[in-house]
Amino acid sequence: MRFILLGPPGAGKGTQAAVIKDKYSIAHVSTGDILRENVKKGTSLGQEAKSFMDSGKLVPDQLIIAMVRDRLKDMDCAKGFLLDGFPRTVSQAEALDHLISNLGVNLDAVILLDVPDDVVIERLSGRRICRRCGTIFHVNFNPSADGSLCDRCGGEIYQRDDDREEVIRNRLKVYYEQTSPLIEYYEKKSLLKKVDASESSDTVLTMIESLVSR
Ligand code: ADP
Ligand code: ZN
Repeated sequence: MRFILLGPPGAGKGTQAAVIKDKYSIAHVSTGDILRENVKKGTSLGQEAKSFMDSGKLVPDQLIIAMVRDRLKDMDCAKGFLLDGFPRTVSQAEALDHLISNLGVNLDAVILLDVPDDVVIERLSGRRICRRCGTIFHVNFNPSADGSLCDRCGGEIYQRDDDREEVIRNRLKVYYEQTSPLIEYYEKKSLLKKVDASESSDTVLTMIESLVSR
């Protein structure tokens, strides 16, 4: 199984991917997670990417494409993969076409998680994440019992720098300008399938599963 989760920030791509990768034993390839890991470790990629990320801008295509090329070669991707946050531009999508054909495999589907802007802003501005295990909380919809520590592992809970409201608005603008053209790109390849992502995450999961396991 090889597919892409497409959609605006806050559509729930990361939340769904975390469940799906375990259930189907496929690799979860999140360019955002790989970048944040590099920032945390202070690698040269991380240093280059940080200012783009903090302002909600896209990291340059060449950096991202090289990163994904390496990641798809990893052993765990052989059984299948779920791309989350990539591709985000038409050039990235074209590069992905090449990477995939070089690997001798095919994409099964591109799932568009469709959600209105006001829902995105509400979800992201309240989002909090455990620094240690990555569990995602929400200050209103899914708070941790303690508020500042993770229910699962006791780690510290934090807010991503780019989850502040002014940055969220910029990320949305970037999505509409640079990423939404991919909807048409994949429609033309007859790969696009749309899901209403303003539903509960359980409902969204069921809809995704019915689309990919057909
Ligand atoms: P979101 O919650 O906005 O989907 P991600 O965790 O996927 O966020 O990405 C966070 C930031 O990392 C983006 O705002 C962008 O700066 C950078 N980034 C992640 N993936 C890509 C990509 N495919 N192309 C360019 N920049 C990316
Ligand atoms: Zn935790």
